[in-house]
Amino acid sequence: METSPFLLLVGSIALDSIFTSHGNHENLLGGSTTYALISAGRFARTHVVGVVGTDFPPEGLAVYQQFSADLTDLKTLPGNTFRWGGLYHLDQDERETLFTELGVFADFQPELSPVNRSPAVVFLANIHPELQLAVLDQIEGDPLVIVDTMNLWISTTREALDRVLKRTSILLLNESEAHLLTDHFQPDDAAADLLTRGPKQVVIKLGSQGSVYYAGSEKISMGVYPVKQVVDATGAGDSFGGGFAAALLQGKSIRQAMALGSSLASFTVEDFGITRLAQAATPEIQERLTYLLKRDWG
Ligand code: AMP
Repeated sequence: METSPFLLLVGSIALDSIFTSHGNHENLLGGSTTYALISAGRFARTHVVGVVGTDFPPEGLAVYQQFSADLTDLKTLPGNTFRWGGLYHLDQDERETLFTELGVFADFQPELSPVNRSPAVVFLANIHPELQLAVLDQIEGDPLVIVDTMNLWISTTREALDRVLKRTSILLLNESEAHLLTDHFQPDDAAADLLTRGPKQVVIKLGSQGSVYYAGSEKISMGVYPVKQVVDATGAGDSFGGGFAAALLQGKSIRQAMALGSSLASFTVEDFGITRLAQAATPEIQERLTYLLKRDWG
């Protein structure tokens, strides 16, 4: 049975169609799990729970094999892989969902193998909250539970999401999602509200403006690494989450975890899909991490 501490990751595994002012790309490997895995897998033992369809390309599987420590609970089922289409406006902080096709995720009922039931950290990346709950229900012990979500689930599955929140240690979400969930425009107000709903810690991601952590009266800000050009912001939040979760598994501080997340996200946005993130070498990730940690972000 598994003994060394590991991160259990569940979220979407997708083929994305992305439309930006820098060009359009279809059927790119994407999904919250994918970005989080490539980010976390370099720094922490990461086990994946998820499902793909029979149309999932072998190159996609190779990426999962490269970055994951355990794929026992990654299933292939008859049907289509999750598909998502996103349209970015000139400002990459603003985007529109064109379509979300759940495919094999629609009926996926994960059954955790014994090896995956006692993680030290669980990252419930963005996916249907009932699926996040199904994974949590099978976990033994008392892991740190980090949760991310998205506007679709906030709008359509609020009751299930509320149940997830009650079992969340650290909630990650972006500014517009925090507004949608709480009706508060100001991140400080939204965080104060969210801290009464379950999580004792909240991180609000502000896109190109960085991120802010809240716990009780504590507040920690983290900036972004100044990349030359933001080509495709897809997956930045998931990359941040993967790095953040991996650093916490390694026993790093919240500030260090936010800096690692921010460093990884800065690679993600430099090219379409996972292209740049997957190629990022450890020394350059460290270099950006050092840059981020040296500054006082207020
Ligand atoms: P991010 O840019 O970090 O918010 O994440 C974008 C990724 O989330 C894309 O690769 C999509 O495949 C995936 N995604 C989009 N909508 C959803 C959804 N409703 N549930 C789960 N994953 C999604």
